Amino acid sequence: SPITPAVTRPEGSGVRRIPRVVGADVPVPLRDGGHVPYANFDYAASAPCLEAVHEAVTRALPYYSSVHRGAGYASQVTTGAYEEARETVRSFLGAWRRSAVVFTRNTTDSMNLLAQAVPAGTSVVVFETEHHASLLPWKRAVRLPAPATPAEAVSAADRALRSCPTGSRLLVVTAASNVTGELWPIEELARVAHRNGARIAVDAAQLVPHRPLDMTAHGLDYVAFSGHKLYAPFGSGVLAGRADWLRAAVPYLKGGGASASVGETTRWAASAEQRHEAGSPNVLGAIALAAACETLSACWSDLAVREEALVGRLRAGLAALPHVRELSLWGDRAPRVGIVSFTVDGWNARDVALTLSEEHGIGVRDGKFCAHPFVRHLVGGESAVRASLGIGTSEEHIDRLLTALAGLTRG
Ligand code: PLP
Repeated sequence: SPITPAVTRPEGSGVRRIPRVVGADVPVPLRDGGHVPYANFDYAASAPCLEAVHEAVTRALPYYSSVHRGAGYASQVTTGAYEEARETVRSFLGAWRRSAVVFTRNTTDSMNLLAQAVPAGTSVVVFETEHHASLLPWKRAVRLPAPATPAEAVSAADRALRSCPTGSRLLVVTAASNVTGELWPIEELARVAHRNGARIAVDAAQLVPHRPLDMTAHGLDYVAFSGHKLYAPFGSGVLAGRADWLRAAVPYLKGGGASASVGETTRWAASAEQRHEAGSPNVLGAIALAAACETLSACWSDLAVREEALVGRLRAGLAALPHVRELSLWGDRAPRVGIVSFTVDGWNARDVALTLSEEHGIGVRDGKFCAHPFVRHLVGGESAVRASLGIGTSEEHIDRLLTALAGLTRG
């Protein structure tokens, strides 16, 4: 896949630079009254904080102050840190120098902001496989069914965009599925979008915690992601991309900071960031998110090597369990990030998840993962179990999960 970087071991000693998360292996209670170190397999929902993020927030706290409008020293320091965080995010995403980098609350907020900012009458094309955050915000959208192959995704998008009425067009697609972890061919989709005079908006919520993204190289017009899935706290997210639609749109969050002048009529701020960051922004959230971006950027290849080994171990172990069925849209060999969903014959997903938690101290997620049409396509009316990996995941965690699931299938 064009967005999967070559995974090579770094030259030298072979020592991997893997950052640490706060609270890995924290003890959790079991049903029998004992305790075990937590095996967290729920990174795709929210990832624990990186130690580097904790340190960055601690460093920023003495100058805790509101940004932009204060003349005091603390306000100046905080404003500097906030705007620096924006530039860190810009470089993390490989965004164009002139593109907008708007701090939002999360991916959901980013996609809703974009949906409010598209010019009236824009034709939106979206796959049914999307997370609801990217599926639902559009006023009118053509929904494409789950494609049988990545190539079919590209040709279906091509056909749909070609038959859109004249006017602005937008293709919305996820980079890595929150259900199967599979990587979507975003570069090819961007090319097809542009060939049809459309823009492409990429939901990168599940990609950026695992793989680098380069908006300029991949030709992406908009990217959205969430801080809390990227080892930073809740409440910070990003919408990055072309500034023109954002600069022209009336803000959907109206208030202080978004306006240039207010009298009989209101003139909105000219810059996309100001216009769409009304109210006092989440400064510590932005600083935390930027610290996570910096930390991950420094060790992508080490992280990818490690994650591939862990995911390989998990998937091989699952494949050896006759009653466990892994979900996949494009088959076993499709490239993916560390997200694996499965069903267990004879068990409902909730019972599997509760047993893993209460008897083994393992945290997975069960349900339809806010992607109802996609999960319905994969397993009909059933729910599934999702195990998602991250920086704090160890081989011992994987083996504990596999042993627990082996016990279930025997039970
Ligand atoms: N997009 C994808 C692919 C996701 O996995 C999620 C969260 O699970 C979201 C969007 C929504 O993220 P948030 O809840 O942070 O807005």
